[in-house]
Amino acid sequence: MLEQERVARAEAEAAARVKDEFLAVAAHELRTPVTTIKGYAQLLNRRITDAGDPRLRPTLEIIDQAANRLMRLIQDVLDVSATALGRFELRRERLDLGALVAEVAGRVPSLTERHRVTVSAIAGVIVEADRDRIEQVLMNLLMNAIRYSPHQGVVAVTVDACGPEATVSVQDQGLGIPAERQARIFELFYRAHDGADRDRQGMGVGLHLSRQVIERHGGRLTFVSAEGQGSTFWFSLPLAEPAPAPLS
Ligand code: ADP
Repeated sequence: MLEQERVARAEAEAAARVKDEFLAVAAHELRTPVTTIKGYAQLLNRRITDAGDPRLRPTLEIIDQAANRLMRLIQDVLDVSATALGRFELRRERLDLGALVAEVAGRVPSLTERHRVTVSAIAGVIVEADRDRIEQVLMNLLMNAIRYSPHQGVVAVTVDACGPEATVSVQDQGLGIPAERQARIFELFYRAHDGADRDRQGMGVGLHLSRQVIERHGGRLTFVSAEGQGSTFWFSLPLAEPAPAPLS
């Protein structure tokens, strides 16, 4: 009986591994044609602008945006399979968290005119972390704050230090998350607003990956939310240097 169980488990693990390998290879291969589509859409956009004929521009911009979205989905699939296969490497470097947050937040307003993103950060919050991964987490939290605030509003980002930890919080005034759904939102593929309009479509991957990234750095990612009022997501990271004076 025990032997049968052991064999069945080994077979299931092997099948799961084949699936993860397939996802990793497929996602990797998908990047090349998407990059080509994006490149040519941009090239055509430039040509028609140079030729003084702007009629096709909106169409080409839609192709470009769709390609960007596809690229983000592919990156999510790559990350999910890399985590499952234990191939999730961190490249740590010294980072000034306030500067990084300001930089990432500065890239967000161009995505929407309806929301206002504010940043409040104390200087000198230094961590040893993987820049790309922390950027990815910040972008996920900011994009969620915007996507789940359909009636606009302020997205307030704060960088602070508390004891041995740096903290970053992203607060929105959006839809919030129904209390009975809150326990599951870090699960892979879980979506608390399923059936909502196309703007908010996602795969339910971002928060799952973000939590893994933060925990791999020795930190925590958590949230509070009230339906109809908004949500605050925040994460901590160990400080690389003693904390400066906290925000009052
Ligand atoms: P998705 O790509 O579907 O947004 P995430 O993993 O980023 O996936 O988030 C999981 C779910 O948590 C979302 O589908 C959404 O229902 C909910 N959620 C995440 N962030 C927010 C937020 N700021 N406000 C309201 N709901 C949120």
